[in-house]
Amino acid sequence: MSQALEAARPDVPGLARARRLVVKIGSALLVEEASGAIRQDWLEALAADLVALRGRGCEVLVVSSGAIAVGRHTLGLRRGKLKLEHKQAAAATGQIRLAHAYQAALAPHGVTVAQVLLTLDDTEERRRHLNARATLDTLLRLGAVPVINENDTVATSEIRFGDNDRLGARVAAMVNADTLVLLSDIDGLYTGDPRRDAQARHLPVVPAITPEIEAMGGEAPSGYSSGGMVTKLAAAKIAVDAGCRMVIASGRRLHPLRALEEGARCTWFLTEVTPRAARKQWIAGTLQPAGRLSVDAGALTALKAGKSLLPAGVTAVEGRFERGDAVAVAGPDGREVARGLSAYGAEDARRIAGQNSRDIEGLLGYRGREELIHRDDLVLTQP
Ligand code: GLU
Repeated sequence: MSQALEAARPDVPGLARARRLVVKIGSALLVEEASGAIRQDWLEALAADLVALRGRGCEVLVVSSGAIAVGRHTLGLRRGKLKLEHKQAAAATGQIRLAHAYQAALAPHGVTVAQVLLTLDDTEERRRHLNARATLDTLLRLGAVPVINENDTVATSEIRFGDNDRLGARVAAMVNADTLVLLSDIDGLYTGDPRRDAQARHLPVVPAITPEIEAMGGEAPSGYSSGGMVTKLAAAKIAVDAGCRMVIASGRRLHPLRALEEGARCTWFLTEVTPRAARKQWIAGTLQPAGRLSVDAGALTALKAGKSLLPAGVTAVEGRFERGDAVAVAGPDGREVARGLSAYGAEDARRIAGQNSRDIEGLLGYRGREELIHRDDLVLTQP
């Protein structure tokens, strides 16, 4: 963020204030189109930038494209548009190399890399959402850098370049990231297509995604590298709604994140809510509760103090719900006091209700979570 801009717009915090950051990397930056080789020097410079951010206490996650671009060369599928099954085969071949390249780039810094393959469904469907989120949280807590890509080999629909823009935003929303960086071959949003329109003006800050801003997305290009501005604006909407600000910046140079901090041209999309508030709003306002848990007075006091809901305090379980579904929580007088995402399905919740968390394994035959609703997934609906 340039100092001038930060001074002019004190509401535009740069990367310096990011605490949990998702960086999405496009294929064209990482992979030589002609040879399918991974650009080692670029990746090493990126790794150094990520390590610098971590050194300042920022957690980082990477969403990286490039599996198909690498794998198609390995498989000899060099020319033209690939059929879906060829893309999937290429992704399977390229992903292993891609993950290895990240591992090799971060290992000299003593940083562990974890490969996570997700489908967009995993981020949307609530049961899997909880699992994916818990895994990513755990990896961050253990100090690893998750390197995420779409699980292209099981994708049932056409794999489109640009899907990873959306995946990056969904991951950012899922892990309550405060900042999403889309590194791309363009340095931000313009009022028109700068390749065709000499009058096109660069926008450094987008305070809100209005229809006028959306119209600037134009058409998606047909090329190999980029989903174009359309998918980036779709990503911006997802991120901003989730309380995560997003920046589109050019990744063409070495050390793109450092360049961004030093004031490189970019476009920031601002948000007015915090990730926590947005998530709570989603839980309290958007989701229909599929069941109801009644709790005793002790549990009620704990919930009001911001604690998780443990099975011990639950006196009754009503309804049919799956792990990850929203449920209402009622106090001893029967009034709803909270809503949250249940870490157990209704049947298991009934078995562990009123029991000590220590006994969950004995009761269910597997070691589940200690909380029935984790405090991050719980929102009070009554003061
Ligand atoms: N998942 C694809 C790959 O790794 C890329 C999708 C995208 O670029 O949006 O090759």
